Amino acid sequence: MDASVIESGVDYGARLAATLPRVLERIAAAAEAGGRRPEAVRLIAVTKSHPLAAVEAALAAGLPDLGENRVEELEWKARAVTGRGVRWHMIGHLQRRKAARALALADLIHSVDTVRLGERLSRLATEQDRQVRVLAQVNVSGEESKSGFDLASAADEIHRVAELPGLRVEGLMTMAPLVDDEAVLTKTFAGLRRLLESLHAGGAAVGAELSMGMTHDLEVAVREGSTMVRIGTALFGERNR
Ligand SMILES: *Cc1c(COP(=O)(O)O)cnc(C)c1O
Repeated sequence: MDASVIESGVDYGARLAATLPRVLERIAAAAEAGGRRPEAVRLIAVTKSHPLAAVEAALAAGLPDLGENRVEELEWKARAVTGRGVRWHMIGHLQRRKAARALALADLIHSVDTVRLGERLSRLATEQDRQVRVLAQVNVSGEESKSGFDLASAADEIHRVAELPGLRVEGLMTMAPLVDDEAVLTKTFAGLRRLLESLHAGGAAVGAELSMGMTHDLEVAVREGSTMVRIGTALFGERNR
């Protein structure tokens, strides 16, 4: 097992039984506040840094969409539950040299953040005669520490990625700053939605998915149009670092 994951003795089944209803309520309330249907928001349970017991508990609770942010951890967890119907979401920064490994396992790669990574995935997809589903990650907030296309050049670059053979750009993904300031969060998520709208208006072959919203900001994200929230802490508890 991956050394970074410490077996914690946590009863993940019991924990999820307590936390999942609350998370579903938060999503439903936010959807209602935004005039949206709760079913339009898919819950991705982020199991990163938690042991396999968290994956098992999520599956038992009827959550088939699971998120990981490192290829190594994705690999050993995916191997452990092969054939169990998990849809794996690669949500972390992906190095080009690991693209093939992510592509082999992920149902959706949320983190295409450069044209070069898109080109690598496109080449692999073409070689394997398959379609690869991805999202383009955008650094809407402009924070130094975040990966993603810069907002200023994102439209041009995502147009290029969307033209690549073998790739299906299903939509966009972003991470908001780790703040509680609702105005900052709203600006970030509304900015991603507006970028998607302008891509559509410009005829880009990009789908309608908006992957945005984590534990601390899911309400604002759902209100602003999120179709996929990526939730770790609120479901599984704090991660060991
Ligand atoms: C860890 C992670 C999440 C989940 O964050 P929580 O705050 O624990 O809900 C979501 N998205 C990405 C890209 C992550 O790396």
